[in-house]
Amino acid sequence: MSDCTDDQLAGSDSSIESGIGTAAANGGPASAPAEMSHEQLAEARTYGRWQLGLDLTDSALDLTYLGLFAMLAAVPIDHWLSGFLTTVSWRLLALYGIMMGLHECVSFPLAYFSGYVIEHRFALSRQSLGQWVARHFKRFSLAVAFGAVMVFALYALFWFVGPWWWLAAAIGFFVVSIVLGQLAPVLILPFFYKIERLDSPELSGRFAQLAAESGLSIEGVYRMVLSDETAKANAMLAGLGRTRRVLLGDTLLDGFTPDEIQVVFAHEVGHHVFRHIPKLMALGFFYSLAGFWLCDRVLAMWIGTDVYDPRQMPVYALPMLMFVLGIFSLVMGPLQNVASRRFERQCDRFALVRTGLREAYISAFRKLSILNKDDPDPPRLAVFLFHSHPPIGERIAMAQE
Ligand SMILES: [Zn+2]
Repeated sequence: MSDCTDDQLAGSDSSIESGIGTAAANGGPASAPAEMSHEQLAEARTYGRWQLGLDLTDSALDLTYLGLFAMLAAVPIDHWLSGFLTTVSWRLLALYGIMMGLHECVSFPLAYFSGYVIEHRFALSRQSLGQWVARHFKRFSLAVAFGAVMVFALYALFWFVGPWWWLAAAIGFFVVSIVLGQLAPVLILPFFYKIERLDSPELSGRFAQLAAESGLSIEGVYRMVLSDETAKANAMLAGLGRTRRVLLGDTLLDGFTPDEIQVVFAHEVGHHVFRHIPKLMALGFFYSLAGFWLCDRVLAMWIGTDVYDPRQMPVYALPMLMFVLGIFSLVMGPLQNVASRRFERQCDRFALVRTGLREAYISAFRKLSILNKDDPDPPRLAVFLFHSHPPIGERIAMAQE
């Protein structure tokens, strides 16, 4: 389940959609870059191979841990807890806490290696070890607290709704994603990043004109301060309705020309114009409906179809439920990415047509791939499994057509 992945805020909330992928910059404005040099390309390829290997290891580790915990540890731990915790709710929370705590112990070395060691080896991170650890545990605590509420809500549905719990859970999940879509840009993002209104009359003027031409109302354009901590720059679209806003990383704002930033902004406007957030939410609804139904069937078989009754769902079933959801996400991830890459291409085309800034578009992506050490033509397997955005080589080639 998403609670077990390290990158929860950025990765699994469908209403926070990463715009151009993540970039990292190490200095001030660069002059218009040429294509990558041989050395830069070789370094980007090495970095890409590390990422693919680490992502695969992470998925394998998560599923192995959840599977072993569900099949070997859940029943004995539940039995042991029942010796001194007589209330089912407390036992449920305790089992969840033990499961998440042990998972953190198992996965921390890999998280440290991929999030700190590798990022520093390729000079993509500016964080000190203390900062990285603080951020890691801030994110972990938030994920565990949020997960505990979700687990409790899920069991409440088992107990009170019974056989149709999976339908109720999918509807509940949908409502939560709408509420989070409203709250994320206002409450959650400032918890991680310093966010302030963009103070640039020139850019604001360009943005206002673009938004007006597209018949779009945006609450505001914001500068997200990332450079003092992570050096990550990202353009992002967040929120729904009245909280709808565009967030631009300060590294992007400082390192790119106004034309380049305008093209990136136009890409973000495209996501609003094509209503990608509601579409992703609708997709998420059917996705969670299928996932929860699958859990219901697997739990029935695991517990025994003749005695299975969701109203009597045992506490020890929780890890099995999360294991099934984990496998389901792994299988469905590539399908979601197909949809996401389609949306990205749609917005790239929109940005090119709406601004006519073909050269700025190409130089912006060249800059990004150099700063980000992003392989322009990554292995097909990596794209298929993990990439929510098309390879940069493909995006540039589209502009050159
Ligand atoms: Zn995008």
